[in-house]
Amino acid sequence: MPTVAIIGAGPAGAVAAIALKQKGYNVTLYDKIDPVAVLQSKGKNDDQTIEFGETGGGLSLYSNGLRALQNVGLLDAVETLRTGEAPKTFHFMKIDGSDPIIRKNAVTAPNEIPPLTVIRSEFHSVLIKEVHKAGIKTVIRKKLKSVTENEDGVVIEFEDGTNTVADLVVAADGIHSKTRTAVFPEAPKPVCMAVGHIGVIERGTRPDGTLVDFDYPMQCYMAPVKGRVVVCAKNGAKMATFYALDCYPPSNLDEDPDWRPYTDLPKEAASLAKTLEEWGVPQRAVTTIKNAKRITPVNVYDLPNLTTLVKGRVILIGDAAHGTTPTYGQGVNQAIEDAASLGDILGHFNNPAEFKKGLEVYNKIRLPRAHLCSGLARSMASRFTAKSELIDWLNRLVMKLIFGLTTSNDAMLSYDYREDLKKEVSGIRF
Ligand SMILES: Cc1cc2nc3c(=O)[nH]c(=O)nc-3n(C[C@H](O)[C@H](O)[C@H](O)COP(=O)(O)OP(=O)(O)OC[C@H]3O[C@@H](n4cnc5c(N)ncnc54)[C@H](O)[C@@H]3O)c2cc1C
Repeated sequence: MPTVAIIGAGPAGAVAAIALKQKGYNVTLYDKIDPVAVLQSKGKNDDQTIEFGETGGGLSLYSNGLRALQNVGLLDAVETLRTGEAPKTFHFMKIDGSDPIIRKNAVTAPNEIPPLTVIRSEFHSVLIKEVHKAGIKTVIRKKLKSVTENEDGVVIEFEDGTNTVADLVVAADGIHSKTRTAVFPEAPKPVCMAVGHIGVIERGTRPDGTLVDFDYPMQCYMAPVKGRVVVCAKNGAKMATFYALDCYPPSNLDEDPDWRPYTDLPKEAASLAKTLEEWGVPQRAVTTIKNAKRITPVNVYDLPNLTTLVKGRVILIGDAAHGTTPTYGQGVNQAIEDAASLGDILGHFNNPAEFKKGLEVYNKIRLPRAHLCSGLARSMASRFTAKSELIDWLNRLVMKLIFGLTTSNDAMLSYDYREDLKKEVSGIRF
């Protein structure tokens, strides 16, 4: 049974582990996470029930990503997170809430799966539970240091001095992937596009009568000349999440890639609310964000397009392959498409002599798709800044025209990677 080492147990790594295990591979999932604090706080210390803790904000799952989850049998588990109406529209407004431009988030094809906004930590927990159910070995506190390929396979060295060998290595270690820099030292580095905060809020009316909720399922308040953007979403019946970003990042960045929430929440929430008030964000959104139950400072990065996602027996997936700004909402969906399609491809090309051919197919179908999504995210991000009010006005006009075309988002959202695979690999079975 060929062995696969997956570096990084985020959404991409977890889905890839399940997809490859289903196809008969001997999979081990490694992550640098050191959840001692999480486990101690819950009175547990068992590697087989690892928890990644409560961090981050929200993610949007669209029909294409949900379809890929369905293809690997994970849709029902993820659908347990659906507690409210599907967010079928996205309102793009000026910073004060005026001049809404509405984009459709859902296609109208008969086999459409309605979009779903989730809390990232809850979604990740569902996936990790499925990883454990599938009996996949998960090893924590394993921070990858180097990767080298030789005639025995791929040798992975970890920061703790241990090493292991696998037939295939899947790099799922996020946008700052050490695996990517180890195998492609010449590849471009991620570029910081914005700095700010993300957070999670419990929706509802507080005992003093304060309404804590956003107006629409998904909305964005933007002041492009100043580079300010606040994206807010309802995540099911009870929760909401937000991004508040300054799209003109400072040159002296505080680079912490670990998504660590603030510990002094009241102080940081009050300070953020004051900033958003100064930006001119509508009071209801400011009040809602001020009532966040978790706020995490973030830097938002874009990885310039790579020319390949494969080197020998090392395969890049998810943000390690094509991390980009969250402005098109496709990041996690692309990660899932990568992971699920890799499972199908290596399920077909399952003889080590055929791996090369299989990985060529992976590169052929995933690279253009990744470039398309990153390009759309960049194009949307470019509208979050403007050199003048006139350019902003023109950008909004373009958005009105593009979003007004009801089919503009359909090709992206109704995509099923299996259709591409059927064209590329004759006789492939799923
Ligand atoms: C803790 C966390 C919270 C996040 N919260 C949000 C959010 O709220 N909203 C949003 O839009 N995006 C968020 N993201 C990013 C989002 O998850 C990704 O953009 C997307 O889901 C693709 O996932 P991925 O699995 O490719 O990468 P990631 O989700 O980044 O997962 C990468 C995994 O690799 C592990 N890793 C990194 N380096 C190493 C190494 N050297 N050795 C071993 N393991 C390593 C990390 O611990 C992590 O578990 C978050 C990422 C993380 C890690």
